[in-house]
Amino acid sequence: MISAVKGMNDLFGKRAVRWGRMEEDIKLLVSNANFTEMRTPMVEEIALFKRGVGETTDVVQKEMYDFLDKKGRHIAMRPEGTASVVRAFIEHGIAMNEPMPFKVFYIGPFFRYERPQKGRYRQFHQLGIEILGDETAQMDAEMIFTAFRVLTHFKIDAEVHINSIGCKECRPAYREKLVEYFASKKEHLCEDCKTRINTNPLRLLDCKICDPKSKYKDIPVMTDHLCGACDDHFKQLQKSLAIFHVPYIIDPFIVRGLDYYTRTAFEVVANTGGSQNAVAGGGRYDNLVADIGGPDTPATGFAMGLERLFDLIPEDFYSESMLSAGYALCDEAVDDLVHFAKHMSHHPIRFFADYKPKKFKKALQKADKTGAAFMFIIGEDEVKEKKILMKNMKTGEQKVYGQHEVMIIVR
Ligand code: AMP
Repeated sequence: MISAVKGMNDLFGKRAVRWGRMEEDIKLLVSNANFTEMRTPMVEEIALFKRGVGETTDVVQKEMYDFLDKKGRHIAMRPEGTASVVRAFIEHGIAMNEPMPFKVFYIGPFFRYERPQKGRYRQFHQLGIEILGDETAQMDAEMIFTAFRVLTHFKIDAEVHINSIGCKECRPAYREKLVEYFASKKEHLCEDCKTRINTNPLRLLDCKICDPKSKYKDIPVMTDHLCGACDDHFKQLQKSLAIFHVPYIIDPFIVRGLDYYTRTAFEVVANTGGSQNAVAGGGRYDNLVADIGGPDTPATGFAMGLERLFDLIPEDFYSESMLSAGYALCDEAVDDLVHFAKHMSHHPIRFFADYKPKKFKKALQKADKTGAAFMFIIGEDEVKEKKILMKNMKTGEQKVYGQHEVMIIVR
């Protein structure tokens, strides 16, 4: 038997209905904040992610789904959305042609070759928002507020963790401090971190394998080494988050896995105690557009994992819309049932017809199995009198109506 590729999921039935409604709600929320959708291809040249996400990141080094196409081009399935949005922003000259800031959102699948477990898949979905052309801390606060707003809409209890990871001016000196600090502790680091200490020392701060942050209490933190401008920006961010009523905690160990962040970095963690409780993350990336070859453009954004969001939505958040089912008890009744189905299609009612004639008892069983709230039956007598029998599946009550009369009742 051929099964789905490891770490990739099918979506159907009740879960698909809830998922669709979740996406509709999200789109409405972000559209109200003036984000418009941007759709980019599922694949890009791998060079984009190497440059955009960073050669030294796990995503690029270990997790890429990549292949050579028939012309030998090196292509990768997108592991995240920001690099593609930035590529499109540059390619279409958006900085020149659209009013700034340019605010977009995307919802769709992403691909990472990770070890699958609950909340971690090889094809997963993200909501992302990106705001290009604005350097203010207030915009970072709005961006974080948007992530928080999505969670509060779904009645999810979550915590926002923020940090500043500085800029080109202040980070190099801090980086040196970190390298110095860990130089004498190399033997206590995991294999990855022994390499990272030279390539990407900030990543030591959130390593889950050797976990230096729980072992050492005097690790230098970026927030103590910010330059004046970054310090002001971080203070303003906190002030604006307070105005937006977003509760936050400062967590100097939020460094984010991807290379492109500057200043603001944040994560949203659900208060569930589970291990995969990071729902969203992001921050500011003021150098990325220029690094990929575009005009100097400050930017900020986040990505939210939709599988994780979905699992956190309370069971009773969406009530199921009522289902009605229609059955014919004899061949003569089928045309009337077709008529009835056509009429029902004009109403916002979930209705399905089963055109294969069957005995009343069988129809009742089928209606029960599909979870119908109302069952409509057309038998020989009903055809003659242009009537229809409606049965309330919960109370068992049943009554005969004129076929046109019932249209008014169900509406
Ligand atoms: P990142 O793009 O790594 O910053 O991740 C942003 C969010 O996407 C995370 O907080 C998760 O909710 C989600 N996410 C990342 N990787 C996966 C994955 N492999 N499976 C499911 N969700 C993921």
